[in-house]
Amino acid sequence: MLFAGIGEEGQQRLLASQAVIVGCGAIGAAAAGLLVRAGVGRVRIIDRDFVEPSNLQRQTLFDEDDARSALPKAIAAERKLRAINGSVAVEGLLADVGPRNVEELLAGFDLILDGTDNFETRFLINDYAVQSARPWIYAAAVASYGVTMTIRPGRTACLACLLEPSRNGHGLEETCDTVGVLGPIVNLIASLEVAEALKFLAGREEALQGRLISCDVWSGRFQSVRVAQNPTCRACSRREFSYLHGQAQPHITLCGRDSVQIHERGRTLDLRALRERLAATVSDVRHNEFLLCFRVDPYQMTVFADGRAILKGTKDPSVARSLYARFIGA
Ligand SMILES: [Zn+2]
Repeated sequence: MLFAGIGEEGQQRLLASQAVIVGCGAIGAAAAGLLVRAGVGRVRIIDRDFVEPSNLQRQTLFDEDDARSALPKAIAAERKLRAINGSVAVEGLLADVGPRNVEELLAGFDLILDGTDNFETRFLINDYAVQSARPWIYAAAVASYGVTMTIRPGRTACLACLLEPSRNGHGLEETCDTVGVLGPIVNLIASLEVAEALKFLAGREEALQGRLISCDVWSGRFQSVRVAQNPTCRACSRREFSYLHGQAQPHITLCGRDSVQIHERGRTLDLRALRERLAATVSDVRHNEFLLCFRVDPYQMTVFADGRAILKGTKDPSVARSLYARFIGA
């Protein structure tokens, strides 16, 4: 409230505002912490994955206990954030945002923040945001480099203006697999993203950057570029929302590791029964109310109660499919 840019009125607006973060990895977790501490009234966090020891180098909301118990990130984040600021309505959802549920998961929020690790989901968010005239903030980082841009449909360029048709992703489609990602860059990008979010939610839209900001914490290079709207943009000009209308891929390769995700809809698994059935054939079994995780060398398989599964150790969908059929059922 003491800060002139926000003031008492801005803080009141923050308290009455609602933000949703898609993805709770490094950027999403850092952004969620900042929003909840700032007193944004309602914060929803959506993530499809669980905490692993290798996340802890940069994912500041999580700890070794979360990794040991293989807690879903959305659940671990909700618990931490509620402990940080009990007056914020924090809601963690274990879900994978896709064309079928994007409307249901994102509708009704003032602002959408990018915490994802892949362009498939970012283009889906962009399609949804442009179609429903809702602002969102793009944010991404890999190695020591990151970018962010606030997208206000109709007033600024959108993600498709920026990246299609070249889809070059500013080199950000390089995998975190091979090049890793530094803790400082994700926290810096999350900070820039949340500064924009606070301006918007506090009703200070005139202060928004409207520019693509990129930085590299290793070389020290910082850039800000005005991005023009593309008059023939697929999304914001021609209004062809191909990601919204597309069917979700049955298999998606996740960023950051050698893994494949399998979607099984309309299926409910009894994880306890599955654990008993598999006990003799698999190793390193971990189980909580949200998921069952086990090893079948050289693979690691994680199955969620809704039938979704993540297979680590392969990028081959047919291998993933056959393992799924063998251990979970066809
Ligand atoms: Zn556009």
